[in-house]
Amino acid sequence: MSITDAPQVYLVGAGPGNPLLLSKKAERCIQRADVILYDQLVNPFILQLSSPETEWIHVGKTPYTTYMRQDEINALMIEKTKTHRTVVRLKGGDPAIFGRLADEVDILKAHHITYEVVPGITAASAAMSQLHRGLTERGVARNITFTTGHFKDNEENPIDMTTLKNNGTLAIYMGVKRLPKLMKEVQSVITDDLPVAVIFNATCVNQQVISGHVSSITAKIAALPERPGPGITIVGHVVRNILEEVPALSEINYVCIKGRRDLCMAHAMDIYENGGWAIIDDRVTSTLHPTQVEILTALIEKTPFTHVLNEA
Ligand code: SAH
Repeated sequence: MSITDAPQVYLVGAGPGNPLLLSKKAERCIQRADVILYDQLVNPFILQLSSPETEWIHVGKTPYTTYMRQDEINALMIEKTKTHRTVVRLKGGDPAIFGRLADEVDILKAHHITYEVVPGITAASAAMSQLHRGLTERGVARNITFTTGHFKDNEENPIDMTTLKNNGTLAIYMGVKRLPKLMKEVQSVITDDLPVAVIFNATCVNQQVISGHVSSITAKIAALPERPGPGITIVGHVVRNILEEVPALSEINYVCIKGRRDLCMAHAMDIYENGGWAIIDDRVTSTLHPTQVEILTALIEKTPFTHVLNEA
């Protein structure tokens, strides 16, 4: 397939935030992108895999605010297909799990725009990899439900407890703020005080795991000095006795590498490999799209770097 036959829009899963967990396909789409529309939970370093000329547009939603409405995102995506050859819509995790994928596919179809969906590693899988456990486990949990504690249009969505009743695993996305209510819901249906783990920033430098039971997890989360970022809640026997198994956090390392992006890239990847976080500051060494300068500047100003390195 030549590049001219390639689809115009890629709906790409960026995974849980660690760039080493991007698929090869996702990386190739990003490298080829003329414009990237990205969500809140996408690590900005992942955008740096694109070309210096790529336009970066943040359309992110934080859990409790809306930066851009879905219909505005849809309209912008269509608009960009008129002016750019390759549009990448980059979403956290897997676009097919709580990613509004169908909305965006429908609008592309309605406009006869060619597209492709690229899966990503979803938060539940990323989180369980860190606990060295499966979402399913032979003889323990034979099924898994991905659910959300979120409510849409101010309507309460009770969570589906069928899986838990059948000794399965429940993975709750977007539910940390409403955890007290959700745990009460579980208690009202399941008498067994099931194990629970909440994993914040799974696979990232600031990963944090809090574990307990349905009866105790709420107090443990409330005792945290601040909310650590996106968290996923896993309920069920698969997360029994994990506390002592979770590796201690290594030194938290936020590195700013100055120099040409292509030259710094391998070094940045090594930092991620060692459990750190890195961004490349190539504002002086490269001619960047103005959107990249703006986004990098804002990010660099607010990041308390532990190291600043001068590379090439
Ligand atoms: N499509 C995404 C989910 C989007 S909903 C996916 O497949 O992962 C956003 C929610 O995902 C967050 O509120 C949080 O519950 C979860 N999440 C995303 N990234 C995460 C991470 N690195 N660690 C823990 N939870 C994460």
